[in-house]
Parts: sequence; C-alpha cells; structure tokens
Amino acid sequence: MECKNCDHPLLEIDHYCRVCGAKVIRKRLTLKNLWVEFSEKFFNIENTLLKTYVALFTKPGEVIDGYNKGVRKKYLGVFNYFALAVTLSGIQLFILRKFFPESLDISVFTAQNVPEGTFNVDWVYDYYSLIVLVNLPIYALMAYLVFYTLKRYNFTEHLVSMTYIITQYSITSAFIITPLCMLGNNFYIIGSLFNLLLLGYTAYCYKKTLKLSWEGILLRTLLFLGIAIGFLILQSLIQLLVMWKSGSLQEMIDAEKTKRGLSYMASSFMNWTS
Ligand SMILES: [Zn+2]
Repeated sequence: MECKNCDHPLLEIDHYCRVCGAKVIRKRLTLKNLWVEFSEKFFNIENTLLKTYVALFTKPGEVIDGYNKGVRKKYLGVFNYFALAVTLSGIQLFILRKFFPESLDISVFTAQNVPEGTFNVDWVYDYYSLIVLVNLPIYALMAYLVFYTLKRYNFTEHLVSMTYIITQYSITSAFIITPLCMLGNNFYIIGSLFNLLLLGYTAYCYKKTLKLSWEGILLRTLLFLGIAIGFLILQSLIQLLVMWKSGSLQEMIDAEKTKRGLSYMASSFMNWTS
C-alpha cells in the first residue's frame, strides 16, 4: 500500500505516513467515521483555540516563547491564530457598517469646518487585513530596536511575538467594542481608548516572555513610545516629501494663500464699507 497523499510506500503497521505525516485511512468512508473524523478535528481545534486564548492572558511567555523555541502542537500556531482574528475583524466591520454605520462616524476627530466627505475612510475597511499585515513588521521592528541590547530575539521572533499580541488584542477588542458600538458608542473613540490597553498588554507579554523586571519593562515601554513618536515624525516627513515631489504641497500652500488673500480682501472690504 502507498500513501494516498504523497505516494510514499507504507508498512502494514504504519498509522501515519513517515514522509508527509498524513493519517493512513484503510476503512471505506461511512457517515459514522466521517463524523468521528470531523468531531475529532473540530473539537481538537476548538480546544486548542480556547487554551491558546486563555494562556495568552495567564502565561503569554509560555505561548510566545514556546512557539519561538519550537512548540507547535500545544497551542494554536501563530498563522492560524492570526487568520482567525482577521476573519473575526471582517465580521465585526461587516456588522457595524451594515447595521450601525453611525458608530463609524470619524468626524468626531476632525475639525468642525472640514467639509463632509473629505475623510473618506471606506477603503480602510476594505483593506483592513492588509493594513494590519503591513503594520506588523513595523511593530516588530520597533520591538527589535527596544529590546536590541538584550540580544534575545531576532526580527522574525519579534514578528511572531507581535503577531500573537496584536491577534489576542484584536480578538478581545472585537468582542467588547462591537457590542459597545451597537449601544451607540463611537468606534474610533472606544478604539483609541483600547489602544492604551494594547500598549499595556504588549508590555505585560514582553515582561513575561523575556522575563524582565518591572522597572526594566517600564523603561523599555517609554523607549517604545519614543521610537513610536520617531516613526510618526519620519512618516509625516516622508508624506510631506512625497507631496512636495508630486506638487500637491505647492497646491495646498497656494490654496491656503488664496484663501487668506480672499479673507483679507473680504475683511478690508468690510472695514472700508462700515
Ligand atoms: Zn505521505
């Protein structure tokens, strides 16, 4: 007999293929063994998922450092866990956009006199998972810089750590923020408050994972914030540079000048007439 998945020859005693690891199935498929197979898989995943979720609160070091050191079966792997969070966020945004669009009003953060439609954020929802994916390496790089002197994790290990942390945060916040938005709260206001919790949770996970002292982690949290501000400034500078190169900066300055000129003319006209 050969493995049906990879064609490697099997021995009579084999329960699993030695090459690809697939389970050897000798019995013909019936509804009964189909059900057994399904429930084994399903409850196994569900069990591991629940265990992973709880452990990321009670002993995040065991999950994160475990994965980085090679543990694969005990907890849900970082990719599966992340994929689950992306799906969950997608469902959350779908529900809010469809049934509670008023909770996604971003104008709470913009100036009063900005005309409506200036901040069209619809694309954010469409590319949500992509945006998270793009940001993960940036968080990982920041963590790499913050913990550089410890020489414990390389960039990839920080990427794994940050992915577990952000995933845990996004699963938890989806379950809390969605009902709060349904009750009439604003998604962005609650989201910003939750970001503070994310900072605290990240610090807690790193303290447990790298076994740091309280003052050690406090100091590095401040360093993390400093680097974050540096990144923000760098990002704005790049944005300005791109705008300058493409000419839209000049346009904006011209528009501002025209506006000032017009209001100056209007006010002097009013002064003159009164
Ligand atoms: Zn095989």
